[in-house]
Amino acid sequence: MKNANKMLHFTFLGTSSGVPTLTRNVSGLAIRNSKNKDWILVDAGEGTQHRIQQAKLSLQNLVAICITHVHGDHCYGLIGLLASAGMNDRTAPLTIIAPKEIQQWIEVTALLTDLHLPYPLNFTDVKESTQIQQITDQLSIQSHRLSHRVPSFAFSIIAQYTQKKLDTQALIQLGVAKGKAWGDLQQGLDVQFNKQTLKAADFIRTLRHRVHAIVGGDNDHPDLLAQACQDAQLLIHESTYTQAILDKVGSGPMHSSAKIVAEFAQQQGLINLILTHFSPRHQDCAGQQAIADEVHQYYQGNFYLADDFDQFTLDATGQLSKVNPK
Ligand SMILES: [Zn+2]
Ligand SMILES: [Zn+2]
Repeated sequence: MKNANKMLHFTFLGTSSGVPTLTRNVSGLAIRNSKNKDWILVDAGEGTQHRIQQAKLSLQNLVAICITHVHGDHCYGLIGLLASAGMNDRTAPLTIIAPKEIQQWIEVTALLTDLHLPYPLNFTDVKESTQIQQITDQLSIQSHRLSHRVPSFAFSIIAQYTQKKLDTQALIQLGVAKGKAWGDLQQGLDVQFNKQTLKAADFIRTLRHRVHAIVGGDNDHPDLLAQACQDAQLLIHESTYTQAILDKVGSGPMHSSAKIVAEFAQQQGLINLILTHFSPRHQDCAGQQAIADEVHQYYQGNFYLADDFDQFTLDATGQLSKVNPK
């Protein structure tokens, strides 16, 4: 199994706060298991299904949707997307981890708009998903409580891979030459050597690789993620404003500045940080530069400001790479 098969792959579908702009849609993030086509959607602002088509992701391979909180810029695209998956003949069950109001909203909308999904929704109240929930053989999800005007959550997205490796050092020491015997052992077959049986199980080592990213919803207290971040290789967090603008706007909207997130990431020793959910006033070149300058001032790790359709990969060693550098 090559390294390229042991990664999480991220596609930003929307990076604007509150309202869509000409260059950025509202929140949506696709996280794919690079070993197959399974993917998880975190948030579904209005227009997310169009972004999904443009990013060439299939709703058939979507295994779970996580909604961070009930504000419209994070969920108004959800029901259209579910309906489209039905019209595309999806039959596989779909896991939704979201505030329970989202379930009520889906049920009422289905009733009022003659919507009949041809596949079951497995709904988990996000408040109840603070334990790790296994979604597929490799992907699991855990929620963490944040601080915002309404209950808001972050999600740990965890991929775990096992790899069977032949202990070639042990074989060399025994004098077993590289060749058919190695191949047979690797296949799990016992091998005769010098009148003794070499058991495959004694020579196969299982290596475990874990990739862990945390995706935050809207939040004015990144420190709530201190414990969750301890074994994470990447934090994706909102940075709606610079500190100067946040000071002007005041604490009412309960968002983070670049400074607050950068200071937290630095204290935690986080190796990778991606910021998103920018206020429209920070979306031009000068606005983005102001955010980047502020992060630089407080954080020495590897960081990016996300644009729509930006893609990244993260592997178990913590290597974060941008797939399509501009
Ligand atoms: Zn928002
Ligand atoms: Zn919000």
